[in-house]
Amino acid sequence: MAEKGTISIHTENIFPIIKKFLYSDHEIFLRELVSNAVDASQKIKRLASLGEYQGELGDITVEVSVNKKKKTITISDRGIGMTADEIKKYINQIAFSGATEFLEKYKDKGEDQQIIGHFGLGFYSAFMVAKKVEIVTLSHQEGSEAARWICDGNTEFEITTAKKKDRGTDIILHVAEDSEEFLEDFRLQQILDKYGKFLPVPIKFGTKEESVEDGKDKDGNPKHKTVKKDNIINDTDPIWTKSPSELKDEDYLKFYKELYPFSEDPLFWIHLNVDYPFNLTGILYFPKLKKDFELQKNKIQLYSRQVFITDEVKDVVPEFLQLLHGVIDSPDIPLNVSRSFLQADGNVKKINGYITKKVADKLSELYKKDREGYEQKWTDIGVFVKYGMISEEKFHEKAKDFTLLKSLSGKFHTIEEYKKHIEANQLNKDKQHVFLYTNDEAQQHSYIDNAQKRGFDVLLLNDVLDSHFINHVEQKFDKVSFKRVDADVVDKLVETDEKKESVLNDKEKESIKEVFEKAINDKNNTVNVEAMATDDMPVMVTLPEFLRRMKDMQASGGGGPMMFGEMPLNLSVAVNANHSITKKIIEAEKEEDKVALAKQAYDLALLSQGMLTGADLTNFIKRSVDLAVS
Ligand code: ADP
Repeated sequence: MAEKGTISIHTENIFPIIKKFLYSDHEIFLRELVSNAVDASQKIKRLASLGEYQGELGDITVEVSVNKKKKTITISDRGIGMTADEIKKYINQIAFSGATEFLEKYKDKGEDQQIIGHFGLGFYSAFMVAKKVEIVTLSHQEGSEAARWICDGNTEFEITTAKKKDRGTDIILHVAEDSEEFLEDFRLQQILDKYGKFLPVPIKFGTKEESVEDGKDKDGNPKHKTVKKDNIINDTDPIWTKSPSELKDEDYLKFYKELYPFSEDPLFWIHLNVDYPFNLTGILYFPKLKKDFELQKNKIQLYSRQVFITDEVKDVVPEFLQLLHGVIDSPDIPLNVSRSFLQADGNVKKINGYITKKVADKLSELYKKDREGYEQKWTDIGVFVKYGMISEEKFHEKAKDFTLLKSLSGKFHTIEEYKKHIEANQLNKDKQHVFLYTNDEAQQHSYIDNAQKRGFDVLLLNDVLDSHFINHVEQKFDKVSFKRVDADVVDKLVETDEKKESVLNDKEKESIKEVFEKAINDKNNTVNVEAMATDDMPVMVTLPEFLRRMKDMQASGGGGPMMFGEMPLNLSVAVNANHSITKKIIEAEKEEDKVALAKQAYDLALLSQGMLTGADLTNFIKRSVDLAVS
């Protein structure tokens, strides 16, 4: 006897709405239905192990199959099944109230597309691709009668008895014309691979051919034949569900390759495992970061009880940790709420804090246990640590003790160690530790050379984030001030009260200054005649540290004010009063010879900074050639 009824919802016809609002994520219907099948299968397994189900458990593989002629997709399980009453209760009422509630909430919010996919619309997502859905099911309860439920996308459904001998449920989707792409094997395989690769119950999708050994030929070589085997799409026991004590390094590396087939091996990893106050398991890998690390995001996969949810973990994992790879599995991350809510969610906050702490602890452990090994990895993890330090206060607190600075000498120091290291001769008159650095060894070579001759240590800071990192360290550490080696003449890099004697008197200085101003002929630049060592360059051009830093910050995105677009360079030109060239200029008789000498010295200074270009460069070369042959 067929029983008819009306699904109790307010909207007359909910399916077109479901379809419309879930447009971008149609493929999740399969995730939802297969997850339901897996749940039902796990339930029967549990009942059997508790002794509450006495029948034979049998093979509980879930099967996905396609009938191209009938244009159906069927998801079959050998789970607990449902009685007709249960269908009415679980499908007609509960599922639908979930769906209507969802629509009420999200129908006006285009931005929440992503969450729509996570809402767990469950069973009704079938109507995104099907014009008619059938459930044929036999409950595991003794003496149950099989039931069939049919609904063709209106609010009306029909329940009849059915002939089904095996325990479990078949969901049969009659695929709609506009969704026939889902009848293609490769498409289904693709979706199953994406969402179901690590489901805890085996999922079969068709068969595959495999080559197996088949005796030996007459020379004793093994023979092969192809056999058809069930195509099981998933690994039911991925390593994150296991205990770290059962696992070897090879297992972690193998799993990494499984997740990211073409990647280089990771540097190290962290196995996450908590069950209080929230549930979370997972493995986070430290990849070798490339300079363009922005491109490396979206590599962490988020699972909920082994069902893939998303690889956009923006709201669940602190930003700097998104550079890591791996999986996080937590049933406690609420996926059925909107984004802003997610960020405010207590569990998510705790998860954030937990992961941050774990990562910091792991780094600290590596640093303490094997400093040399840690230093070798620094090039790869440095960017990550700095990023974390800048963006997360909690991470900073731990990372400050294992953040390293690399000297051009090849030595590594923590920040505190470095302060001690340079205390002897790099304290300025305000007792600031002056951290000298270069971001381009080749280009700043002459400045580095001068600094090193003076006994100063020079750091190499050439990561993308270093301009931000420098500001951060200055703010967070007492009495630390960074200066790029070319920010000033070497005597002024570490400013002391000491004064060098000048061989020129004030009047001579003034006239040298005038000659140079004439030669340079650019009002934006300031000329100073200063007493330096006789073997220093005759002229140094520098861009003051603060100006250059703003430019750097701007170049690396954000931070600096935007006023430098068309601004002139504003160079400081320091003329070495003690260099023999000044004497030559003073002694030169003709004004034009004075200016020519000054111009040559200035161009040389520009050249050493890589700033002499265009016509200036051409003229300089011409002049130099003339000088050489004259
Ligand atoms: P959810 O899975 O979030 O509870 P669904 O709409 O997907 O929501 O399913 C509603 C209910 O229908 C399930 O909780 C379950 O009781 C029942 N159900 C769905 N699919 C199956 C199945 N394959 N076997 C047994 N029961 C099922």
